[in-house]
Formats: sequence, structure tokens, C-alpha cells
Amino acid sequence: MSRFFSDKYSNLVPYVPGEQIRDRQIVKLNTNENPYPPLPEVGEAVRAESEKLYLYSDTECVELRKLLAERLNVSPDELLMTNGSDEILNFAFMAFCDKHTPAYFADVTYGFYPVFADIDQVPYEEIPLREDLTIDIKDYFQKAGTIFIANPNAPTAIALKRDEIEEILQQNLYNVVVVDEAYVDFGAESCVPLIRKYDNLLVTQTFSKSRSMAGVRLGMGIGNPELIRDLNAVKYSLNPYNVNSLTQAAGIACLKQDEYNKKNCERIMSTRSRTEQLLRDLGFEMTESQTNFLFARHPAISGEDLYLELKKRNILIRHFSKERIKDYNRITVGTPEQMDQLIEAVKEILGK
Ligand code: PMP
Repeated sequence: MSRFFSDKYSNLVPYVPGEQIRDRQIVKLNTNENPYPPLPEVGEAVRAESEKLYLYSDTECVELRKLLAERLNVSPDELLMTNGSDEILNFAFMAFCDKHTPAYFADVTYGFYPVFADIDQVPYEEIPLREDLTIDIKDYFQKAGTIFIANPNAPTAIALKRDEIEEILQQNLYNVVVVDEAYVDFGAESCVPLIRKYDNLLVTQTFSKSRSMAGVRLGMGIGNPELIRDLNAVKYSLNPYNVNSLTQAAGIACLKQDEYNKKNCERIMSTRSRTEQLLRDLGFEMTESQTNFLFARHPAISGEDLYLELKKRNILIRHFSKERIKDYNRITVGTPEQMDQLIEAVKEILGK
């Protein structure tokens, strides 16, 4: 830290992203990327757009929002596009929390929430998951602040049903509930159909997982137009050009090929069931995943040792040192071939 760093950040503990190793030899199962690349049309659209790079990007993402609104069955004024969904989450902390309106989220959930709370100087309360890592919705009733729920949750992979989230909404009509649906397209129920019924609901989604574009950095908020207006006030006070024109072009091309994205999600879900079974046969215990990753532990090896042993064999998975989940690892569902490599390596490590 330099002597110039503001005191207000002296206790900041930044988010630690998963290792990004570009080496192709590595089987990369640590950051929940989609193993199937976008179709060539996405690259072609980006190349064509690159001729117009001397112009600023469209601050309103008009074409992209129009197309996305059709896909989601909402209206464009119920949508805001951002630089990854991390950005819309931060906007939500900025717009809907302050020292009188704390944030509430699970003790085991997306690790960025406490970081956003800290940088935005928002007090927060972590609500413990049950022993089996599920959410007890009653713990979220009548909160005096803004609720953040990753659904499905990460890294636990467990989803609440839409009806359960609706109960939380009904019990919090005077405060905002943010539902982070980064992984919703892998088998969970989206809350987007509820946005007209609940003006306190903000849903966030991303192109990083089900749409194969983690590197593009494209996310979105979906909610009542007044909530979206508030979030736009934050955006236009920070960075009106937050979604660059290459990203917008990629997003539009990607949405035109949405059937391909859906098919990839189905492939991933089928690889997930197969891998889950193979891991169970090897003695692993797992939560019920409705995401593109598995959250697994084995009675015979610690989470950290398994992570390190796999790393030696060029397979990267994600280990968290947090006490409650240190026995587990989060394993991204890759291609069937990558999962075969994982299973073979695990068998070797376990001596099976
Ligand atoms: N929410 C959750 C629960 C996540 O795991 C992630 C991915 N790290 C994000 C949001 C943010 O994803 P992105 O910024 O790539 O849209």
C-alpha cells in the first residue's frame, strides 16, 4: 500500500478471482466458464464492429436491449446492461444500500458481496446457511435492508424454487431483493417472470456462463423501470460507456444464436449428471447442483489436498479456505473428455 492510499480503503480485502492460466495443457475447471466457445458469427460481428471503434459505444445498448427484452419477455425499459454482472451487483449495492440500509446475504455465497459492501461502505449481515448448506427462507423474512441471494447459490450449487423466492419477496415489500441468477440457465427457475408483480425485485444475469462469453464481460439487471432508472443514475455517474461496442456486437450476435446456447446448457447438464454419478461411485458427497459446477467433498481426502494433487496433474479446480466449506471443492462441469480426465486423475489420487 502506498502512503497515498485513502484511509477509507485501509481495511479493504479485495475479491480473489480464480487462477486464470492460459496454458492449453491445463484442464481448467476452476472458474465456471462454459467449455463450448461462441459460434464464429460472434467473432465476425466483433470484427465488423471494430471498424467503428473510433466512435463511443451506445450508452443505452439499444439494439442489444431490444433483442434481449424479446428473449426474456420483458420490455427494454426493464433492462440495464453492464460490464459483467459483477458491475450490476455493485450498482445495486451503491443504489439500494447505505449505512441505514444494510445488506443481507448468506454466510456461504458469492465472495464478491462482502467486497462490494466494504468498498461501498455498506454494513452487512451474513445469514448462516443450514447445516446442509441450504437456505432457510424464513431467515430472510422482514429484513430492514437489501437482500442479496445468489440463486442458484455459489459455491454450493443449490437452488431455491421460484415460489420460495416469492415468499421472501412478499415478506420484504419495503426493501429491495436482488436475485443473482448467474447460473440460472442450468436447470433452476428464473424470477424474471415476477418483476412486474414485485417492484422491489432486481434480477441479475450474465452472458459469462450459459452464453459462453465470460471474456466479453456482459451482464444485466432486470426489474421494474423505476429500479432500473435508479441503477442508471449510478451508471451515468460512474461510467456511461460501461459496455463497450465490441461487447455489444458480441452480445447481439450471441443472442441471435440463442438455440446454440440452450443446446450447450443441455450438454453441460447431461455431463453434470454423468460426472456426479461417477464421483458418487468414487465415494464423493455432493450437494444437488442446478449449476454448471459441482460442490463435492470426499471423506478420505481434504479439500485442499485434492485441489493440490489435481493441480500437480494439470487439472485446476477451486478450493475455498473458508472454515465451513474447506472440505469441499467447486468443480466446473467441462466437456465429457475433460470430466473423464478429472475422474481418471481422482481415481489415481484415491488409489482406486
Ligand atoms: N454471481 C455469481 C454467483 C458468480 O459466481 C459470478 C461469477 N464469478 C458472478 C455473479 C459474476 O459474473 P460476471 O461478472 O462474469 O457476469
